Amino acid sequence: NYLSNKSFKDYEDIPNLDIFQRAKAHEEYLDYLKVSGYMNYRLLVNSGCGPEVDLAEDGDIKKGSYVSFVCNDYLGFTQHPAIKKAAISGIEKYGTGAGSSPLIGGYFDYHQELEDKLSTFFKKPKGSSIAYTTGYTSNSASLQCLLKQEDIAIVDMAVHASVYEGIQGTTVKRFLHNNLDALERILSNVKDKYRTKMVIVDGVYSQDGDLAPLKEIITLTHHYGGVVLVDDAHGIGVIGNTGRGAMEYFEVMDKVDIITGTFSKTFSNVGGYLIANPELISYLQFQSRQYAFSAAATPAISAVSRAIDLVDEEPHWQKKLWENITYYKKGLTDLGLDIGTTNSAIIPVKIGDVQKNCEAGKLLLECGIYTNPIMYPAVSLKDSRIRMSLIATHTKEHLDKALNAFDYVNKKLNIAKSMK
Ligand code: PMP
Repeated sequence: NYLSNKSFKDYEDIPNLDIFQRAKAHEEYLDYLKVSGYMNYRLLVNSGCGPEVDLAEDGDIKKGSYVSFVCNDYLGFTQHPAIKKAAISGIEKYGTGAGSSPLIGGYFDYHQELEDKLSTFFKKPKGSSIAYTTGYTSNSASLQCLLKQEDIAIVDMAVHASVYEGIQGTTVKRFLHNNLDALERILSNVKDKYRTKMVIVDGVYSQDGDLAPLKEIITLTHHYGGVVLVDDAHGIGVIGNTGRGAMEYFEVMDKVDIITGTFSKTFSNVGGYLIANPELISYLQFQSRQYAFSAAATPAISAVSRAIDLVDEEPHWQKKLWENITYYKKGLTDLGLDIGTTNSAIIPVKIGDVQKNCEAGKLLLECGIYTNPIMYPAVSLKDSRIRMSLIATHTKEHLDKALNAFDYVNKKLNIAKSMK
């Protein structure tokens, strides 16, 4: 079937087809995925985010409870009573919406409290943070505002889609994932060119769960006159002794020029932030179009202020998460599976072949385990994998159930390292 060689990327644009014809072709691809039982996207969930979720019936998928590895709710805070209470109190005190953009009436004390807490969390002076309404825009909107034609963005190939979107209006050079020689080659070539040279990396990479060698990246970049932006969406709350992310782990918090992150993972809400010097923050407040022309976050964001406090007040969640990570990684490795070089709560099981990967996702669902089968364009064509996020509220029973399911899948599909 020719459609089995396709991916969502093929439908981004199709020459000579108008939008309706393009959508029709896309619909055929979706039908193919459904008929093959490979439709693992937009599954309807009838419960809250957490270690177990209720899925609705959909084609081959049976209605019922599944052990879930798809929430990036690393510390389990989406269900934390104190955080829920903070959201409810925020709504009770301020109502349900902010009413307008921050520049024209939508900037409230609960926004300022949140930004102050973020500055303190990252040990920066007051005024060092700006809160966006998504993690995506904290990258895309700020980069679009900061980097123009006379600048250059030098990005690790594996950075998030939101970064790629933000750098469309500037010169872009990509370097091989975590490859310092490749980075240095680019930096030395552009040494005396460009107005701003910005190196953009993730603290923790979203598909492999590995960390960027931040110390070396920062030293190199500064040596060649560049600035470093670290998106640590997946590191905050997880990495570092006090959950300050990869920057804490590598002891470079005071050397990173710009930090971006999200409220949608450890902080268990929606929104994102950027940390930088106060002048840059003030520039973004007025110049970043998606910030200036879009409504501010709702009062439910008060929950994020509470979540930030709880990272410090209840460190046992981070400890429990790491117990889970250690246990699960060992279990998967003992089965002979390839989990790459992850050192975070993101655990991939690398399968390679797209078809086998879809098949594995389907079999895992049949065993009551809900994971994300990831394929091109999120990763390269031969690099398909089952991606899982561990959270603090997974129990040993949840993890054992998943390990048994992987054992079963491996026996059926030969996905172990030695078979690849
Ligand atoms: N950065 C990274 C590395 C991400 O993985 C994501 C989304 N998973 C984002 C930014 C965007 O964050 P959000 O989903 O909160 O908009």
